[in-house]
Amino acid sequence: MWRNAALFLSALVCCKSAASGFASLSSTGDLFAFHKNLTEIDSITYKEQEVGEWLISSLEQQGYNVEKQYMDDESGRFNVYAYPGETRETDTLVSSHIDTVPPFYPYRHENKTIHGRGSVDDKASVAAQVIAVNNLISAQKISQDDIALLFVVGEEVGGDGMRKANDLNLKPKSIIFGEPTEGKLVSGHKGNLGLEIKAKGKAAHSGYPWLGRSANEVLTRALAALMELGPNLPKSDKYGVTTINLGRIEGGVAANVVAESASATIAIRIAKGTPEDMKDEITKAIHLAVKTFLDDGQSPEDVIELNFPSRGYGPIDIDADIPGFEVFTVNYGTDIPNLEQTVLGQKRYLYGPGTITVAHSDHEAITEAQLEEAVGGYEKIILHVLKEERVVKSDL
Ligand SMILES: [Zn+2]
Repeated sequence: MWRNAALFLSALVCCKSAASGFASLSSTGDLFAFHKNLTEIDSITYKEQEVGEWLISSLEQQGYNVEKQYMDDESGRFNVYAYPGETRETDTLVSSHIDTVPPFYPYRHENKTIHGRGSVDDKASVAAQVIAVNNLISAQKISQDDIALLFVVGEEVGGDGMRKANDLNLKPKSIIFGEPTEGKLVSGHKGNLGLEIKAKGKAAHSGYPWLGRSANEVLTRALAALMELGPNLPKSDKYGVTTINLGRIEGGVAANVVAESASATIAIRIAKGTPEDMKDEITKAIHLAVKTFLDDGQSPEDVIELNFPSRGYGPIDIDADIPGFEVFTVNYGTDIPNLEQTVLGQKRYLYGPGTITVAHSDHEAITEAQLEEAVGGYEKIILHVLKEERVVKSDL
């Protein structure tokens, strides 16, 4: 069954590079063709089905056993779980996400650079992971029963796909997550906490503002207090400072109307401590700041509402103990905290091609060299974790 893989991947690129001849196709050509197919399909979060279906048909034709894991809702969205051998619950798991941020930018490959939405985040990881696994199996460096692949939806909007993947009941000893890390290993990333603020005002004529309460004033007072609190929030040597981004602010209806409502949406990147501690500090500071707007008998909640839409999480330490890689930390969130650690001492790695500095932008792009290098990087990481797992097994 496995032998089909080379044929199928060759077929993928046959039409594009027919001049070079079928027999001369290398895994490099296969990599670019696989990556092209993934990146050409628009898979902005909540409409990942088409790319998921393509990925399933490709993996099946390559000889993988493939499971489709539907989300709990009626959306028809699904994760893809694939394993090349007989063993479903493998010791090593490789994972990345198939959704992208909006808007969609079409695929373009020129001057050894590949442009397009998802070309880096995260289809470069998906493609490099599949090719790396194929290479290692073809070269008989690993067995088909050593490894499985998990591709999830929804990473860019809260991670519902990876949270659903907990129901797969997998127990890998090592997990290799793919995100753009510039070909380096990541030793950890900051935590994350979302905050929505709603200020409640009372509309009035702007000539008689004392008859109302301006939600815009309540909100700006609260935001000023939050920004003042910022530098005093916990910091650490490893992750630096906790940062606050006032992502979206809106309020009021017109210059001559005292604003009845105003709101802000905020992202906090946590360098130290727990989201619970941070929620307490933020709530205290904002409640204190809006005190002057309270009438007799009112509580802060009567003029301002603080909503933390998810539990959030503190900084995530990640394993980076593999020789031969540069190591650094990143400030973006990943799906890592969404996948429960089901095995004591489970190792988690984060590695992938391309840079986060172009991901999510209108100039998202990756070079051929970065993509190729990542195949080698994943091979090296997979071989390392398998070796470690075997040492642990033989010690038992
Ligand atoms: Zn990503």
